Amino acid sequence: MWLASVAVPVPLGQSFTYSVTPAQAAVCRRGMRVQCELGRRQLIGVLLNVADREPEIAVDKLKPLGKLIESEPALPEELLDFLIELSRYYLAPIGEVLRLALPAVERTQSSTENLFGTKTKMVGRLVQQVHRIEPCPSEVKNPKGQAALIHDALVAGPRLMRDLEKQFKSARAAVQRLQHQGFVRIVAATEVKNPFFAQPVPRDMPPVLTQAQGDAVTAISTALETAARQSFLLHGVTASGKTEVYLHVVQRCLEIGRGALVLVPEIALTPQLVGRFRARLGDAIAVVHSALSDGERHQMWKSLRSGQVRVAVGARSALFAPVMNLGLICVDEEHDSSFKQEEGVRYHARDMALWRAHRVGGVCVLGSATPSLTSEALAQRGLLEKLVLPARARQAAVLPTVEIIDLCRNKAGPTGDRLLTLPLVRALEKVLESQEQAILFLNRRGFSPSLLCDSCGSIVRCPDCSIALTVHRVGKPRVVCHMCDYQASIPQICPTCKGTELTEEGAGTERIEAALTQLFPSAHVARLDRDVAAGAKSEAILDRMRRREIDILVGTQMVTKGHDLPDVTLVGVLDADAALSMPDYRAAERTFQLLVQVAGRAGRGEHPGHVVVQTRQPESPIIQCAMRHDVGAFLIYENELRRELDYPPYSRLALVRFEGLDENLVASEAKKIARIAQRAAGKGVKLSGPAPAPITRIRNRWRYRFLLKSADRQRLRDVLLAVKRAPVDRGVRVIIDVDPMNML
Ligand code: ADP
Ligand code: ZN
Repeated sequence: MWLASVAVPVPLGQSFTYSVTPAQAAVCRRGMRVQCELGRRQLIGVLLNVADREPEIAVDKLKPLGKLIESEPALPEELLDFLIELSRYYLAPIGEVLRLALPAVERTQSSTENLFGTKTKMVGRLVQQVHRIEPCPSEVKNPKGQAALIHDALVAGPRLMRDLEKQFKSARAAVQRLQHQGFVRIVAATEVKNPFFAQPVPRDMPPVLTQAQGDAVTAISTALETAARQSFLLHGVTASGKTEVYLHVVQRCLEIGRGALVLVPEIALTPQLVGRFRARLGDAIAVVHSALSDGERHQMWKSLRSGQVRVAVGARSALFAPVMNLGLICVDEEHDSSFKQEEGVRYHARDMALWRAHRVGGVCVLGSATPSLTSEALAQRGLLEKLVLPARARQAAVLPTVEIIDLCRNKAGPTGDRLLTLPLVRALEKVLESQEQAILFLNRRGFSPSLLCDSCGSIVRCPDCSIALTVHRVGKPRVVCHMCDYQASIPQICPTCKGTELTEEGAGTERIEAALTQLFPSAHVARLDRDVAAGAKSEAILDRMRRREIDILVGTQMVTKGHDLPDVTLVGVLDADAALSMPDYRAAERTFQLLVQVAGRAGRGEHPGHVVVQTRQPESPIIQCAMRHDVGAFLIYENELRRELDYPPYSRLALVRFEGLDENLVASEAKKIARIAQRAAGKGVKLSGPAPAPITRIRNRWRYRFLLKSADRQRLRDVLLAVKRAPVDRGVRVIIDVDPMNML
């Protein structure tokens, strides 16, 4: 009996079985979208497989499969298999994983027009293979014939007629023959509308590569050409020209007829970066980011799936772009924690990029100035080949000097703000005098991070979360919860003891901005954080920075990443200790990366840069290594600690979190499941907890968790499967996080 397994793009763990008619069985293929009935609902599902087999339920209970929505699979087989494997690895429901790869329009609309058909402007003719079951006639099989070569080329995905004409001498005639015989069809290629592409970008000429860039490009290109399934760790200091390397190898990848994917941290996906890709590769680029509308996302997706566009650039979720005949994935700033999705399917786009590239016999390039310990460990085990760009690409640009300021010894400068020390103020004066620019980094938005009661010493907290409320003064003075966005006017009375003396403790970006504006009345001071800028707005502020309309920019981590601002000569890290004290085994790694990256914003142009790092722990090896830009020494130091404590990369972690409104219930369910996990664990898997999470309550939900640690991936997985199967009270949500990044 022909049966189909169908996954429905809703958060359901299992797939569903439907009966299939012989006529359907002859034409359906994995990855196609189909109509199916679930309960009383008509839904769109994705065919996982079709097989002639015994049903596991009574035949009269089987529902028939609905209509096939299209003649080509919406999800190419490669992508479908990748998604299935990803769902297995993260123990995530297959339905939810499919949602990652299918835009909303594809999940909800069943018109066949969506996939290849078109109503918009036609810009060319697209040749697609028609999949048939009967064998090819001999003419097509003739391996030297043009038709056969074109037929083979189309296996990888549809191609534009004009591209085929460039590659094959008599493409037009051969395609016509194939069309008559029913092997290919020709459809309209449609104009791709791209919100990033409002203005045209002139083509640029690639610079002459430095020796190190050239070597890197050669190594990667060779792997691409020989389909060697090799992956690389491109370790290049900030501004060493890594992006230039990606541009070259993406171009090479296109030349050999394969598609490419470039992943960057969301924050780095700026029009400036996209502009560099367009200037080199033209406008046939899909840009995938979180701010796309459903319609735009559908357009992007369609242009890739049809093979019309062969390069996608985007943040984390672009990993699932349907790039046809994928040959290359570049992950820029691979150490960046934004590659980990922290809700729904908790996948890590860098780890999965390595998988996807490997599965397609392609090449993956992980680039960073501060490689993660994970990637470094893969390089040491020989799984990644290391390529090094040791110096900045432009001759004049040397790495900045770093000065450490001990916050214990240096008291507040002229403004009275503890974080604006005298040496820092002097450095700012110098920058203003020589008409250069400065960036000051402080990872706390708002005016003051907490409000303290002088009589009872308690901190004013969010009513729904176990964190302090932040005082904001720009706009309406108020206190805000940075976890749930709860807002209230600034309390005058302590909610705990009714005391009337409340003091604002510490400084956030608003306070620093205000103090600097007072101190330097003729300078232009601006602020860049989530309160003033999201998405396009932050780009506007950076544009003003580029046009030199800002002298001093104060900001959160939004200022640290990827920007190329050549006139910035001073970077100040106001409080390096904040990140170091996070309750997270990766606190040191994060701090080091942050310091080196933010320092990398200084001195990218003609003038040398200077970095000021303020800390209460000037002797800390992490700060010392960052001061010398010594990535190697840091990795050795941190690796040793990880080895001693048996943390990744020396083990694998999984976090099991419990959330619910009733604290007692959450605690008892956590305990119950932890016991089940402990029984399943046996030797080789270590369980710690259960215990309240460092942030014990968010949005009124109590949070408990336990951590599993093992050197053996399979064993860890077995325990997680036991956890997943265990019955749990409906008032408690269980979240499994494989390779967790967020330990809060
Ligand atoms: P990264 O990605 O490592 O930060 P980029 O590729 O952005 O570095 O390069 C930094 C700057 O150096 C850019 O302005 C870029 O145009 C320039 N650049 C890169 N490679 C070269 C080269 N070979 N010759 C001259 N300038 C280069
Ligand atoms: Zn809150």
